[in-house]
Amino acid sequence: MEISYSRLKTYRDCPWLFKLLYVDGLYPSLSPAGSLGLSLHRTLERYHARHPEPGDAPDGEAELLDDYVSAWLHRGYQTPQMQVEWFEKGKEILRGYWQMERSRSSKIILVEKEFRFEVRGVWVKGIMDRVDLNADGSYEVVEYKTQKAASSPEEVAGNLQLSLYGLALRRVFGLEPKWQSVLFIREKAKVRAPYNAAGEQALLDLIVEAERKMDQGLYDPDTSHCVRCDFRNRCAYSTAPQSAGDPKTL
Ligand code: SF4
Repeated sequence: MEISYSRLKTYRDCPWLFKLLYVDGLYPSLSPAGSLGLSLHRTLERYHARHPEPGDAPDGEAELLDDYVSAWLHRGYQTPQMQVEWFEKGKEILRGYWQMERSRSSKIILVEKEFRFEVRGVWVKGIMDRVDLNADGSYEVVEYKTQKAASSPEEVAGNLQLSLYGLALRRVFGLEPKWQSVLFIREKAKVRAPYNAAGEQALLDLIVEAERKMDQGLYDPDTSHCVRCDFRNRCAYSTAPQSAGDPKTL
């Protein structure tokens, strides 16, 4: 069994959703927002692979937009017109990102970096968006969010994904994270919180416990996230408001 952040979060939110996605293989179709998010991630990966140092791209905005064109994913849009509209949205987001990028003082040392480590027989894997080395010598795990509104430092401190990636930075790369941050690129805001090494044991326990339950086939539904679930109109356990006649087949 291998566990990634997505699998762990899905199981923690709703074990039944985990079953639908990862056991039954029922992947929901890609939404325009999801597709744009992937295009933006691919763009930033390409751009920062060439430009890790602050201020090392005098014509960076034009380069960023060129990378956007080559990284663009065409899937997820119902009409060509819809695709054009979302493409333009992405361009505006990247122009805003460039404004932030101009004042960056950190060096980017890892970009879309894969990791894999083992804990008590469970393999944990993932891909970090980015790790920065700050001017004061501290390391910072950074994740991009392209759809969400900026959250508080307290929420970033409790972010499961960042905590997992901070743990991986220590275990796999031997680097001590001081900060964990979310870069909300639509909102042009970076929110950071101190990395909490004291929380690692609880995180490892959570991973091992979740894997044990998955292994036992324990998939009890948790309905607290139904309103945002992609299967809310089809799932038999959904408590989200339903349209009349929606077939509940899952
Ligand atoms: S609709 Fe609710 S119960 Fe069903 S899979 Fe989604 S979150 Fe779980």
